[in-house]
Amino acid sequence: MARDTSPACKQCRREGLKLYLKGERCLTDRCAIDRRSYGPGEHGRRRMKQTEYLVQLREKQKARRYYGLLEKQFRNYYEKANRQTGITGENLLRLLETRLDNVVYRLGFAVSRRQSRQLIRHGHFTVNGRRVNIPSYRVRPDDVVAASPSSTARAIISEATDLTATVSPWLQADHDNLTGTILKYPEREEIDVPVQEQLIVELYSK
Ligand code: SF4
Repeated sequence: MARDTSPACKQCRREGLKLYLKGERCLTDRCAIDRRSYGPGEHGRRRMKQTEYLVQLREKQKARRYYGLLEKQFRNYYEKANRQTGITGENLLRLLETRLDNVVYRLGFAVSRRQSRQLIRHGHFTVNGRRVNIPSYRVRPDDVVAASPSSTARAIISEATDLTATVSPWLQADHDNLTGTILKYPEREEIDVPVQEQLIVELYSK
């Protein structure tokens, strides 16, 4: 499956904020944003004229990178959100949040979404007792996500929980048994993501 392989820290520097793509390193003083807070590349320190389009584009890129998706995948989520009833921007964030890779990360079973995706692809997680190796799998309320009992990565998953400060309020995690439950679909205020989703909707609806 295609995936974004561009350097993680460069992505943060491009967006001008921490996207927490590298796990533990992001919490240390080795974080590139703390060391070089300007954009990457030869023209990184130049001020660019902030047009309406540029602001919308950056917001979309920020969200896309935050969830680690390629443009086509992100656009598909937008199209799906747009077909649903309710506020398109909130629908979009809800669809992104309920991806299995994001849920595993939010539950604290991985230090980053990248690690979460890798663990899922290698079959280290189950949903309702069945092994699922698709990172984009969409979880539903009452689903139970767990580290597979036979997984060889249980120690790694357990270590990741040590770095978890809080778990999203729409999820319930049991770090001792490495299981988590989806309590409900998240409301907008329960989604901790530094994105103004309305700007993304404006960009795509042009
Ligand atoms: Fe981003 Fe983490 Fe790199 Fe810091 S260390 S720039 S938060 S990926």
